[in-house]
Amino acid sequence: MNDSAPVLRIAYLYPDLMNLYADRGNVTCLERRCAWRGITTRVQRVEWNDRLREGADLFVIGGGQDRQQELASQGLTAHNADRILAELGAGAAMLAVCGGYQLMAHRYRSADGGELPGLGVFDAETVHPGSGVPRCIGNVVCAWNGARLVGFENHGGRTYLGAGAQPLAQVLRGHGNNARDRTEGAVAGAAIGTYLHGSVLPKNPHLADHLLALALARAAPGYTLPALRDDAEWAAHRAALRAAGLRA
Ligand code: GLN
Repeated sequence: MNDSAPVLRIAYLYPDLMNLYADRGNVTCLERRCAWRGITTRVQRVEWNDRLREGADLFVIGGGQDRQQELASQGLTAHNADRILAELGAGAAMLAVCGGYQLMAHRYRSADGGELPGLGVFDAETVHPGSGVPRCIGNVVCAWNGARLVGFENHGGRTYLGAGAQPLAQVLRGHGNNARDRTEGAVAGAAIGTYLHGSVLPKNPHLADHLLALALARAAPGYTLPALRDDAEWAAHRAALRAAGLRA
């Protein structure tokens, strides 16, 4: 290992429980994009009943159905909420996808009316209108930082941002947070929430590197990410744009 190369600590929250639609690919993408640059990653898998064993520079949590979210909410509340919030307060970054995103807001009212407490990372809350209401499903394209983000969504819950929340992106195709206000996801400091599955990072290399830069700002202050070629990643991005009916 190159002594001057950064080491990035990734805490992967509930990988077996919260892994809808291959969201584990986000962690694989981060690991590979670091390895290609000579950055060492240490991935700490935190399963349902685990406590965080060490700090982290980057937290990742994927999506899950209501039942898995109930267990994840219990695990967060019982073991890890305070530590995660403390790390985020100290500059750690986060990627929370769909069900994981919902649990990082204030609360999630599930399809059966149960209320799951969230960590309040994002000033937002989610209400599932019930199984009789059509889900938000399909390809999504959003405008983000002068570029576009692509992915697909499958969620029943509708997320409404509070006054203290910033959306991640603006929806160009698809539903986004609530199929009403054209917002997608949320940002709070170095934490990013999104409904984009896919997994989202491999075909949005600009978002992946944005997240890595946020996490490395804490892990290795002053370090600048060298560029990668990303031909395959951008080809996948363009294919997703076409799948959503937009010109690549
Ligand atoms: N169970 C949540 C919902 O239906 C989240 C789904 C997901 O993570 N894809 O909104």
